[in-house]
Amino acid sequence: MVNKMGLIFTLVGVISLALATLGSPYPKAKQEDGVHTKCTQPGMFSLTFDDGPLPGRTEAVLDVLKEANVTATFFVCGQTYSDLHSVEGQATVRRIIAEGHQIGIHTWSHPYLADPWRSVEEVTNEVKSVADKLLEITGNRIPIMRPPYGAYNDSVLDIVRGELGLEVIMWNVNTLDWSHPGDTAAAIENYKIETSGSHPSVDSFIALHHDPLPGSSELAVEAIRFMISAGYRFVTVGECIGL
Ligand SMILES: [Zn+2]
Repeated sequence: MVNKMGLIFTLVGVISLALATLGSPYPKAKQEDGVHTKCTQPGMFSLTFDDGPLPGRTEAVLDVLKEANVTATFFVCGQTYSDLHSVEGQATVRRIIAEGHQIGIHTWSHPYLADPWRSVEEVTNEVKSVADKLLEITGNRIPIMRPPYGAYNDSVLDIVRGELGLEVIMWNVNTLDWSHPGDTAAAIENYKIETSGSHPSVDSFIALHHDPLPGSSELAVEAIRFMISAGYRFVTVGECIGL
């Protein structure tokens, strides 16, 4: 069941993200619309992981973070690879929190929220259902959200930020790990391209990874090594954006 769901989800994700990429270039700096694409202070780096939890793979990433003694942020879904109703999914969320990382909302079923036919109710439910479930699991209101495929419009912002009061988080380092799962070298090459010419005295970064993908923990090892050697300080997204 997990494998079948994972396969369907991956195919839908790859096609939709490809369309999203063609439609709008990824932002490289903080947006005038208030969406966060980098940190508020230079020298900060936020490692972020989308689409989990997937207990086995997410746990492997958590092991890497613990070994390296760095913090990260996980934008979780309600039901994609795993299920926030499941004992395993909830245990993984609790471990993320217990080990000092941050949880963010990534919608219940990973829809493309910027589709013009999405109703206000649908977008609201996709976000609020995860917020409510995470409140039940963690005891805390989650303040940050990332839209699937990085796709949003004014209506989505009105709902997510205006109605639900969440900060919307994008990225400025795109590993494109979804397009070459398991190819660590290709993802690190994207790190080099996106951070080229940068310096921690003036720059900050938020990097996009996907913990359910094959090779996600191996990529995390190399990404951590790369950003530490570049002189950046690892922070959760909350600290990154000054919450
Ligand atoms: Zn996603």
